[in-house]
Amino acid sequence: MSAIAKLLSIGLDVRTDVAVQAIRRNDDRWHVEDAGGAMYGAFDALIVTAPPLQTLALVDGHSPVMAEAISSVRMSPCWAVIIQLTETLQVAFDAAFIHESPLAWIARNDSKPQRQIGNCWTLHATEDWSRGHLDESADDVTRTLVHEFWHAVAQPTQLPGFVAGHRWRYARPIDLLPQRFLLDPAIRLAACGDWCGGPRIEGAFLSGLAAANALLNGAGERVCQTYRIEVVDQEDKFQ
Ligand SMILES: Cc1cc2nc3c(=O)[nH]c(=O)nc-3n(C[C@H](O)[C@H](O)[C@H](O)COP(=O)(O)OP(=O)(O)OC[C@H]3O[C@@H](n4cnc5c(N)ncnc54)[C@H](O)[C@@H]3O)c2cc1C
Repeated sequence: MSAIAKLLSIGLDVRTDVAVQAIRRNDDRWHVEDAGGAMYGAFDALIVTAPPLQTLALVDGHSPVMAEAISSVRMSPCWAVIIQLTETLQVAFDAAFIHESPLAWIARNDSKPQRQIGNCWTLHATEDWSRGHLDESADDVTRTLVHEFWHAVAQPTQLPGFVAGHRWRYARPIDLLPQRFLLDPAIRLAACGDWCGGPRIEGAFLSGLAAANALLNGAGERVCQTYRIEVVDQEDKFQ
């Protein structure tokens, strides 16, 4: 999943596993403070790409206009489970919307192009069910959703080879911002993500591109307008 981002980041100084606690502005430059108190910077400009609530916590106090816009965005949660079966599931579909169930959607993961066949399914709970069970343990939620999966596919239960549940607290934007990104040009602070202008991976990508272009346009530069991404083979190569 991360192959494209990894390739785009080649040659860049990328720090991962850093929880940003605060952003500070001194002498017209940005400084970033992590949860352990370490400081990064100084930077000419800053783009925050966290979900809206975390973005709000960072930009609040720096840009009232941005903070007000971000406050209007709400995200819905989603409990998701991945399950690896030991025997092929005998069903005539690769994906299904499930009705009248805690499950909203199930999909056979290994039927996607270039996957190794391994009877792997992903399960998504409904928004309402996820919200109502948000603080339950991953083990309890996984047990319930796997039970519902067997009920939905109407097949004899199997002991899974592997199963794991994941709580996505900020999974999908409910109220999108109409604009592709937020920018406070006076302090060169921007925010973007799938909650700006359009959801899902495509929305996040277009939002990030638009924010970068807007910041660089002020400096007379341009990233580019379009990317053409083409999977060449299975070894993470693309153009
Ligand atoms: C279960 C599930 C399945 C999905 N399936 C699909 C699909 O099939 N196709 C599709 O197009 N989209 C899918 N989506 C949506 C897609 O994952 C999102 O639209 C996309 O990841 C949004 O990208 P983003 O960069 O805006 O935000 P995110 O991917 O949410 O990235 C934000 C990042 O900010 C980090 N962060 C937050 N606060 C801080 C902080 N203080 N300091 C440092 N880092 C911080 C977070 O850890 C996170 O890594 C799915 C989403 C879910 C939940």
